[in-house]
This record gives sequence, structure tokens and C-alpha cells, in this order.
Amino acid sequence: MEYLPSSEGILKKVLGYGYQIHPEALKILESLDDEKALEVLGSFSARFPEAIVIEIKHVEGILEKSPFKKAAETGEFRLKLSGKVTQIYDGSGLIQRCPKCNRWIIDNFCMVHSDVEGIWDLRIKARFDDGKERYTLIFKKDMTEKSADITLEEAKKLGEAATLERMRETLIGKHFEIGGVKLKGGNFLVNDIREV
Ligand SMILES: [Zn+2]
Repeated sequence: MEYLPSSEGILKKVLGYGYQIHPEALKILESLDDEKALEVLGSFSARFPEAIVIEIKHVEGILEKSPFKKAAETGEFRLKLSGKVTQIYDGSGLIQRCPKCNRWIIDNFCMVHSDVEGIWDLRIKARFDDGKERYTLIFKKDMTEKSADITLEEAKKLGEAATLERMRETLIGKHFEIGGVKLKGGNFLVNDIREV
């Protein structure tokens, strides 16, 4: 019987990460060179935090992301930045979303679905400067609540203008260490933030 150290190594790695893997997905990983296969495994938890079984669609999804070579080369898609928030863009703060398509809407009116009952949400789109480059940061609700130290309920009581003002006061000009994921359009999705 032929001994295949490389593929056995990959299965071991998968199990070592605590995952199970679909046989077809394992075949795809085995068809890659070791480095690439480990790169896919390394980014799996960031891409599919809920999954415990690695399916073909996961592997294919990660491989499609290969344009993000730079981040992938570190083994994960997570990146760390250190710098200053220099601007909070309009459309940040307490916003409404269409319950049908999740678009940002104003006054319970969706461009596609007309009159709807908007759902309140929090988000921040901010400019970030690390001294060399500028980035556009995107904060979803949980990271917005954490970084601006405000909950959705509190924001609803404060109102839109006061919420945005509070976010500007809390964030602009301060130094942060940020962890996150670079998105397709070049924006940076924040999933960890710490004032330094
Ligand atoms: Zn809509």
C-alpha cells in the first residue's frame, strides 16, 4: 500500500483544529499543495465561525477569495491595524434598515419595497489612518456598541443626531488597535477594537 504522508497530514490537521470534514472537501484540500491547504484551513474559522463540518462549499468559498493573497499569506484573513480614527462618515450611527432587503433606509421608505417598518440598527463607517495608509473601517452593530460604548436601546433613546455626535466624540482622534477582515471593495470590517 502506498503511503501518502501529505494527505494524512492534512486530515490530521483538520482533526487537530477540531473539525470534521466531508470526504469530497478533503479531496479538494488534498489536491492543493500543502501550503495552500493549510492556508484554507487557517482561514476557515474566520470565514465560517459557526461551522463544525468542513463542506465542499466552504473550501470552494475560501479558494474563490484568493485575490486577497496578502492576507491569506499570513494564514488567515484577519489583519491588525494600529492608528487613529480621523473621520466618521455620514450614514453612521443609529440607522434604519429595510426588513425585506436589509438596505439602509430613511423614514421607513425603501427604494425597492416602498413603505416598510424599518428595523433599527447601529453601524459606523469611519476613516482610519495608520500613519502610512488610510482605510475605511466598517463597524457592525456589536462592534459599534463596543467601540462607542452605547447600546442600540440607548441610541434609540438619544436619537439619531445625538448618537452620531456621541460616536464622533468617543472615536475621533483616538488611537486604536483594530483587528478585522479586508472586504472585497477594500473596506475593512472591524471585529476587534481596543483603545491604546
Ligand atoms: Zn427593501
